[in-house]
Amino acid sequence: DADRLLTASRRPEDVDAALRPKSLDEFVGQQAARDNLRVFIAAAKARGEALDHVLLFGPPGLGKTTLAQIMAREMGVGFRATSGPVVAKAGDLAALLTNLEDGDVLFIDEIHRLAPAVEEILYPAMEDRALDLMIGEGPSARSVRIDLPRFTLVGATTRQGLLTQPLRDRFGIPVRLQFYTVDELESVVRRAAGLLGLAIAPDGAREIAKRARGTPRIAGRLLRRVRDFADVAGVPVVDAKMADGGLTRLEVDGLGLDAMDRRYLHMIADIYRGGPVGVETLAAGLSEPRDTIEEVIEPYLIQLGLIARTARGRCLNGRGWTHLGLPIPAGGQDELF
Ligand code: ADP
Repeated sequence: DADRLLTASRRPEDVDAALRPKSLDEFVGQQAARDNLRVFIAAAKARGEALDHVLLFGPPGLGKTTLAQIMAREMGVGFRATSGPVVAKAGDLAALLTNLEDGDVLFIDEIHRLAPAVEEILYPAMEDRALDLMIGEGPSARSVRIDLPRFTLVGATTRQGLLTQPLRDRFGIPVRLQFYTVDELESVVRRAAGLLGLAIAPDGAREIAKRARGTPRIAGRLLRRVRDFADVAGVPVVDAKMADGGLTRLEVDGLGLDAMDRRYLHMIADIYRGGPVGVETLAAGLSEPRDTIEEVIEPYLIQLGLIARTARGRCLNGRGWTHLGLPIPAGGQDELF
């Protein structure tokens, strides 16, 4: 049955499912994306059509799953979620698609990890709402076409470039999510504190927002941990001092970088004298998959201007050296080689 292909509705980080915004109005930030989606949703509803297929891309924790759920809610249709690696065979996707109800949103997280054979049957499903399936084997095999209900595919991926061109071309609405500003994350933290029944001072919310790596999921996680420290210490209101104390114990530094970020920066600084160094070399040195380095660690460090991706590899910028408390090598990096 198709149920085993559906993603459990909650991830560990979402212990508080109540924290998820339920409407576009409640969703903080991503103004441009939200404004556009509002128009496309209203237009589709007015015409009585399903919303066109949407591709959401951006680093983890920026709200892709949340937005997909909101789209379903605002369209007034059902929501089903799965992920690329779970849909292993063409038959798995067929089972999911044939079980949809009219207008449903099917969310596929990590859509770039779909197997090629699965991706191929997705094309006619997206374009013509039809499935072309092979029945039987050998000389008696024949192809049958099954009509599907109307549906909206919402695909999520960390980088648009990971998708094959034919798949990318079939999404009418591509949406890039950006890292959140400190002001936006402050709203996320205040809203989450309200829902958790936690008293937080404005400077406490600001401190957590500044150190949340531009990411609502991280803001929520840090808030919950700071709440633990405050509860155990018997502190009734989380202020900047309480937040700073908790975050420092969690090894989150002033820029919001965690221990992994600092290991990455130190590897370039200490072992490769500021780079350039190839991503594969860094992955091996850090014992982390290359994907994690490129999709989770680097985007934020680049956004902060601490490192640069160059044709010859990764380099530590002046800001990177300064953040590590190290002197910027004199005369530029090339002189070191
Ligand atoms: P992604 O699918 O991109 O990894 P999620 O949609 O799972 O990210 O979001 C992670 C968490 O962050 C969610 O539990 C949600 O509560 C919170 N969140 C994400 N975006 C927002 C937002 N714009 N406003 C408030 N909370 C958000």
